[in-house]
Amino acid sequence: MNLHESEKAAGILRTLGYEECESEEDADLILFNTCCIRDNAERRAKGNIGAAKVFKRANPNLIIAVMGCMTQQDSAGETMAKKFPHVDIILGTNNLDKLAECVEKVRSARKRSVLIDPCATPEIHEDTPVFRTSGTNAWLNIMYGCNNFCTYCIVPYVRGRERSRTLVNVMDEFKRLIDEGYKEVTLLGQNVNSYGKDLGMKNGFARLLEEIAKINGDFRVRFMTSHPKDFNEEIADVIASSKNICNNIHLPVQSGSDKILQLMNRHYTRDYYLSLIEMIRSKMPDCGITSDIMVGFPYEDDKDFEYTLDLVNKVRYSGAFTFVYSPRKGTPAASMPQIPAEVSKRRIVELVDTQNRIVKEISKQFEGKVLRVLCEDLAPKGAGKVCGRSECGRMVTFGGDVHSIGNFYDVKIVKSQSASLFGEVVK
Ligand code: SAH
Ligand code: SF4
Repeated sequence: MNLHESEKAAGILRTLGYEECESEEDADLILFNTCCIRDNAERRAKGNIGAAKVFKRANPNLIIAVMGCMTQQDSAGETMAKKFPHVDIILGTNNLDKLAECVEKVRSARKRSVLIDPCATPEIHEDTPVFRTSGTNAWLNIMYGCNNFCTYCIVPYVRGRERSRTLVNVMDEFKRLIDEGYKEVTLLGQNVNSYGKDLGMKNGFARLLEEIAKINGDFRVRFMTSHPKDFNEEIADVIASSKNICNNIHLPVQSGSDKILQLMNRHYTRDYYLSLIEMIRSKMPDCGITSDIMVGFPYEDDKDFEYTLDLVNKVRYSGAFTFVYSPRKGTPAASMPQIPAEVSKRRIVELVDTQNRIVKEISKQFEGKVLRVLCEDLAPKGAGKVCGRSECGRMVTFGGDVHSIGNFYDVKIVKSQSASLFGEVVK
């Protein structure tokens, strides 16, 4: 989401004549796109914004701007404006459309702007220019905001309520991207499964996928994130029956304990979640299923953590993002009793070990199999090698060169190493 928002900011800045440069020393403008989902992300952003002071000292004409979730937290804009006098522009999550105007004000009169509008139900800006930087894949927002208020999460407070783009607008952009030659489109939303609810659509995400499935061509579609409470059989059926929609579902579970899931306000139980996995695998046996999992949530005891490990062992995710719970000011969980840091640390190590072991075992099972891979880039290591993902989302390295990028290949897996697969092109 943030990456794509940076592409929008870059699109706006290019209309003013800016281009990307190699280093901060060469820059006329530095824009920080911030995230506040965890304390770590926030601390890093603050450190980098503070450190940018030296570039301004060297180049007093430099414009420094800050955007993204961090600015939208309660009174964060004013605090930042005071703490960072070298920052010229601070924009809330719904003020990106004013970026060009604010830059002009600094350029013409060195006038500072701090614009942070309430973000609860803002309108969608359809005409923002986008400068895409993501190679063969294009990101496509189908909706903004979130209604779920998971008790640990800051997103609904800084991104407002769910707003879906109309089916017509989403499909227009989708078709444009395919016409422009993108080979993969990733549909974005905090909870894509509730797409269209705010527009009065019934099972809107399944309808959208059906529309996409009608388009012919050699391309792939992925989507994220799916909330388990709104994922259903109809959505699974459309994915299973469409050639272009990847059998790859990111279905964050967060915890394997019913007690914790309830405290998190996730609106599903462990059994319900496991039944979803069973339903998905009965329709798509090769579906890559990934997850987000958290440890150290308030009241999580050893038994709860065992339930999480047990669920991970049962589901056997092909990948997982694992997090230590980080209290976010203003969210209900921040005022619950907190778990000691060393307990969370011990649990995250055990969780990561478990998940790594499973990924290694799954990787091994791919040896000898042929996967259809979209070549995305040159491999980071090894001359004459390229890499790309399989339909189920696994990264595969194989022989090729810059001309291979953007093409599909059938690749036979000859070796696996933890999460990495290595293969040879058969077609
Ligand atoms: N909308 C998506 C997730 C968006 S945030 C969903 O509901 O699945 C991405 C992930 O960050 C979450 O799934 C969660 O695992 C993690 N996360 C969110 N808030 C967090 C917090 N306060 N501490 C630690 N991890 C958090
Ligand atoms: Fe946060 Fe929950 Fe919304 Fe995801 S669904 S963005 S975790 S509140």
